[in-house]
This record gives sequence, structure tokens and C-alpha cells, in this order.
Amino acid sequence: MKRPILFLSFDLDVDSAEAYRGADPVARSRGRFTVKKGLDKVLSVLDKYDVRTTFFVPGWVAEKYPWLLERIMSRGHEVAGHGYMHERLDQLSWEEENDVFRKMVSSITSRTREKLLGFRAPYWRWSDNTLSFLASYGFLYDSSLMDDEEPYVIEHNGVRMVELPVDWRLDDWPYLEYYRSLTPRELLDMWMDELRYTKESQGYIALTMHPQCIGRGARIRVLESIIKYAISNGFWLPRGSELAESVIQSPGVE
Ligand SMILES: [Zn+2]
Repeated sequence: MKRPILFLSFDLDVDSAEAYRGADPVARSRGRFTVKKGLDKVLSVLDKYDVRTTFFVPGWVAEKYPWLLERIMSRGHEVAGHGYMHERLDQLSWEEENDVFRKMVSSITSRTREKLLGFRAPYWRWSDNTLSFLASYGFLYDSSLMDDEEPYVIEHNGVRMVELPVDWRLDDWPYLEYYRSLTPRELLDMWMDELRYTKESQGYIALTMHPQCIGRGARIRVLESIIKYAISNGFWLPRGSELAESVIQSPGVE
């Protein structure tokens, strides 16, 4: 039976992007809110509704905050890759990007002891070489492109990989942190429209959130409202790897 799909995912950036660009201590402290409060608040909501999902993690975060990774894995969530220090891949040379992939994969897999299946490009920016790196490392899926409203298969150099498309409009960061253009209530209102549309069309929606953003203050209630709606309306809330597996095994996919 077809069900609407909510790919609920979190980017565990902490202060990787700020450390990479040498930002000031206050900017870095906003990222480290994840460590003190943000992640635990998010995990307790996911625990409450028994949701297992995917966290995209920069390799540097796995090295610097290994206990955060432990908290995620102990609950059965998936750890996926998100650069090494949240680099913009489109600004890197081939050699530099190669280094980012190598360090990301080794720092995460040395802790998870599992093959890294999923990837999301920091800032959702690919270079012209990113697809080749993903294929050569044998990733099962990527979640960075914006050209569709449903998952699909990419073929590259004989490798088949799933794309779980995303959209800036479905990300908490621009509205609540970067432009600060919506209140949490307005954001929830917009996302509820999207969820209702997804339910009616039996479609797919990917919501991207950051513990340092959605975990702050009363914003956490946006997450809880989304999950309550999705569960009570029959949505499937898979980890990225589960969803990608189902897409690649689907008989309709060529
Ligand atoms: Zn990020």
C-alpha cells in the first residue's frame, strides 16, 4: 500500500562551519548550543514518538564530539556524511575535495564501524567532481539536489545511487537562523501546508533541521507538531538508507 513519506533529517553541524571559516566565539557558541541542549531536546522528541531517522554529520564533528555520535547511534538513528569541516565543495580543487571525502569517511566509519551509506553536501553545493567521489566511495544515496519532488536513481560510471531531493523551503535554517524571516509559528504553518499536500498526493517530503536551530527554546514544538501530524496521518518516516534501499529495489525503477 502506498503511503506518504516524510524523510525527516538533521544536520549535526555544531560549530564546524564557524571553526572552518575562523568565526568569532559568539558565532561558534550558537553552533555549540547543539552540545549543551539542542541535540538532547531533539532526541527526546524522537524518543517520545519512537522515530528513528538520519543525522548528517561532518567528520570533524565526529572527531571533536564523539559522545554526540554515541547518543545518536545508541538510539538506532543513522549517521551519514556531511563533509569534513562543512566545506563548500564547489570552492575546492579536486585534490582538496578528495581530502574532504577521505577524512570524512575515515573519521565517521572508525566510530560507527559501519559503511557510510548516505551523504549530504554542506550548503547543498556540489562541485563538478562530487558525483564521481560519491560513486567511487560507493554511497547508496545523496540528499542534496533539488530537481524533483520524489526520490530517484542516478547512474554514474556504472554505479547506481539514489537521490533523496531536498529544498531550501523545507529547511529550518534560512527562516529561523540566516534570514530570520519567519517566526516558528509561521514556519510550522507553511510546513503543515506542505505535509497536507504530501498526504493528499501520497508523495514525498524531506524536512531538514538543525539541532542548534530547531532545538532552541519553543521552536522544538515545531518538530513535535510535525511528527504528531505525520504519525497520525499514516506517513512512513524512514531513515535515509531505508528509503534509498526501497527506491533502488523498486521494480518500477530503471
Ligand atoms: Zn550543514
